[in-house]
Amino acid sequence: MSHSPSDPDVHHDPSIALHLEDLTVSYGERPALWDIDLDVPAGVMAGIIGPNGAGKSTLIKAILGLVPVSAGHIRLFGEPYGQQRRRVGYVPQRSSVDWEFPTTAVDVVTMGLYGQLSWWRWPGRGERDQALRALEQVSMESLADRQISELSGGQQQRVFIARALVQNPDILLLDEPMAGVDATTERQIIDLLRRLRDDGRTVIVVHHDLQTVQRYFDWLAFLNVRIIAAGALEHVYTANNLRRAYGGQVALLDEAQNRPNAPSDA
Ligand code: ADP
Repeated sequence: MSHSPSDPDVHHDPSIALHLEDLTVSYGERPALWDIDLDVPAGVMAGIIGPNGAGKSTLIKAILGLVPVSAGHIRLFGEPYGQQRRRVGYVPQRSSVDWEFPTTAVDVVTMGLYGQLSWWRWPGRGERDQALRALEQVSMESLADRQISELSGGQQQRVFIARALVQNPDILLLDEPMAGVDATTERQIIDLLRRLRDDGRTVIVVHHDLQTVQRYFDWLAFLNVRIIAAGALEHVYTANNLRRAYGGQVALLDEAQNRPNAPSDA
């Protein structure tokens, strides 16, 4: 599609997986995100990092239209979320899910297809097969008919990742997927996310463990209500940016500060 120079969409390049412009989100009077500009290129494994209360979850929810935006706009591959819904997979924070809800793993995954189903059509054999294939991707097919309440934390998380994968999304948004899972599951999740990235998907992960940032991601956004820095890991993972994002939370930084390659901003 061609654009005239005055067209405001001229910058909305579809090779940019996620474009945020002048984005402000407030709960009541208090802004949780303030004037955010961010471009995440397609095909990266991006970490969103910043201290508690920095607005990381709010950012993901704003992208998905789950919280109202006070100002600015959001584009996914150049289009508003409403037009790209099927290209987006979302894994919410574990703590926001009712794990006692009486349902099976395969039914949870099938729910990920509801965007494609019509209200008059119950999911059938085809949808179940699609859900089973998604469970296979996370090595959970043998537990497809288990109640989710009977699964371990790591298994539950893998079911929710399958639910995000079932419609074969181009962009995946995960809110702290490694929180509350054992080390083996963490490795499985990170290997899976890497495979998806290598396959050309864009993976965006809210992440809180600074010790693994350098190993897991190739692209980073440091957030603390505002964007502190964003870009390729080797350019932005610096002691200075860590300090600017985390401020006084020095205890968290002791280990991480020894790791960045560059002593100050690149
Ligand atoms: P993070 O994910 O980085 O820990 P959040 O996005 O959860 O940060 O929260 C950002 C800020 O917004 C925090 O100060 C938090 O208390 C506040 N907040 C989050 N959700 C709500 C809500 N539903 N109502 C009011 N304030 C909220």
